[in-house]
Amino acid sequence: MRERNTIRFSDSDRGIRAAVSFLKKGGLVAFPTETVYGLGADARDERAVASIYRAKGRPAHNPVIVHVSDIKAGLALIDLPEAGVKAAEAFWPGPLTLVGPVRENSGIAPICRAGAKTLAVRVPEHRLAKALISAFSGPLAAPSANRSGHVSPTNADHVMEELTGLIDGVLDGGSCDVGLESTILGFDNNGIAQVLRPGGVSIEALEAVIGPVRSSEVTDNKTPSAPGQLSSHYAPGARLRLNADAPTLGEAWLGFGPDPDRKSAISLNLSPAADTTEAGAFLFAALRQLDDWLDGSGTIAVARIPESGMGIAINDRLKRAAAPRD
Ligand code: AMP
Ligand code: MG
Repeated sequence: MRERNTIRFSDSDRGIRAAVSFLKKGGLVAFPTETVYGLGADARDERAVASIYRAKGRPAHNPVIVHVSDIKAGLALIDLPEAGVKAAEAFWPGPLTLVGPVRENSGIAPICRAGAKTLAVRVPEHRLAKALISAFSGPLAAPSANRSGHVSPTNADHVMEELTGLIDGVLDGGSCDVGLESTILGFDNNGIAQVLRPGGVSIEALEAVIGPVRSSEVTDNKTPSAPGQLSSHYAPGARLRLNADAPTLGEAWLGFGPDPDRKSAISLNLSPAADTTEAGAFLFAALRQLDDWLDGSGTIAVARIPESGMGIAINDRLKRAAAPRD
């Protein structure tokens, strides 16, 4: 793969124009969303999307999410059952991805679906993501802007650390507010909703709008609920020990809630106030920071996180980050 000169585009009209000029040429530009940074390319351009897979080292069977500017553009791409349309109306723009059969003449490059008949679509809420998609005036394919299997990026430095030389640039919009990926919702043939990945819209919030949804389970590598949802993912170099009461000698500590004297020399707290939303926003940056301090080896002991609100998505990411590696 040819080495690219990776530019940091500023949060300005000029920065957006420069980013768009690369996207129009089939280039790769990372951009902030409210969830994590996405690695964007023209979703109508098979070659551009293929280069996302190369830059990330992403397996060819793992489809990508297509980002559009508004609900009308989203519903024009996929055919959703009633519950899906309701969810779109309630949560778009926002951290919800909806999966449905792709419409004929969608114009989306088939590579975005990685062989599936369904396409995943999202309308992001982030000011810069919106501005970029509008200025580009087309759909952007954008998986998370990290090397495949690594921790997702929640600021532009994270993107630069992993993808410098591999992409054309990153639009720098500071830190992501939600900090966890979108909730992915799919539907069976009867229109029954199933969460394929917990994320930035809580299950409680979804159910308040569309009624009970089936939830996903982190099981094993053989039965991924969404293609690419393999067990080991979001993985720092260090090992993770979950649901820990305290660090043992030599372990780093990732706390949650009031944490008097539970000290390891190397420790961070996801949310001293025990707020799962605050913890979600900090999770990936905290994992990267601890991993850095540990030089990518050793063990991070992680406190128990409640299984409610953003805690469901946090625990999903932690389980995958702790999963056995190849
Ligand atoms: P990321 O690459 O981090 O943005 O994650 C995108 C997630 O969306 C992956 O886990 C994909 O498996 C999932 N996804 C994308 N397209 C589809 C689809 N058509 N059906 C089910 N899951 C999808
Ligand atoms: Mg990802």
